[in-house]
Amino acid sequence: MNIIESVQHVQERIADACRRVGRKPDSVQLMAVSKTQPLSSIESAWNAGIRLFGENRVQEAAEKFTIFKEQHPEIKLHLIGALQRNKTSTALKLFDCVQSVDREPLIDKLGKTYASGTHPLPILLEFHTGEDSKIGFPTLDSLCRAAECALRYPSLVVRGLMTIAPYTDDKAQIRASFRSLVAARSSLTARFPACDWSCLSMGMSNDFEIAIEEGSSLVRVGTAIFGSR
Ligand SMILES: *Cc1c(COP(=O)(O)O)cnc(C)c1O
Repeated sequence: MNIIESVQHVQERIADACRRVGRKPDSVQLMAVSKTQPLSSIESAWNAGIRLFGENRVQEAAEKFTIFKEQHPEIKLHLIGALQRNKTSTALKLFDCVQSVDREPLIDKLGKTYASGTHPLPILLEFHTGEDSKIGFPTLDSLCRAAECALRYPSLVVRGLMTIAPYTDDKAQIRASFRSLVAARSSLTARFPACDWSCLSMGMSNDFEIAIEEGSSLVRVGTAIFGSR
């Protein structure tokens, strides 16, 4: 399959998963995760209709997307990997959302650096729900403190939560991981009703159908679109 066919195939699988649980296919956004992929592959994904891309390294994203985004203003680019503090200003010029907000000092740094921005920067709080490397806020308490911290900055706007499920064939374990993100969202909605918690970024090539069944609103798909890295 070429990239255009792969995108169509993933979109069909998304629609099927939505149908199984009575959701509208357009309630799930498809992000193409283009880390390590050349610009030519990104252009193919664009030609296949992809408008949302994810990258996990600031420098690599800047090299590939600075001009491409100028040529295609409809493109949205999200950061989905660790953000080093010295890359914050480069990141803020490039990314439309930082999904991988995983510690309070990063919220402070983003909030202060973005104070001069023309509109608030959307962020997602990353919750650790079981994967091995243990990135993300570890508890509901720490998520609540992070939300309080973000609320102090008019330059930031929280849009929801992100997680990475464990990489395993054990579907029950993956499902449990996604369910804990949904549960965290319910608690945060009760605690911070004025905030927007609508985005649930969960699901990758290995598990996006399970994520959709559990309520994902944004799936981050790399391998199933571009092939293995
Ligand atoms: C690489 C990556 C993805 C995409 O992974 P695939 O398994 O290739 O679909 C999704 N989310 C994050 C945070 C990633 O780093």
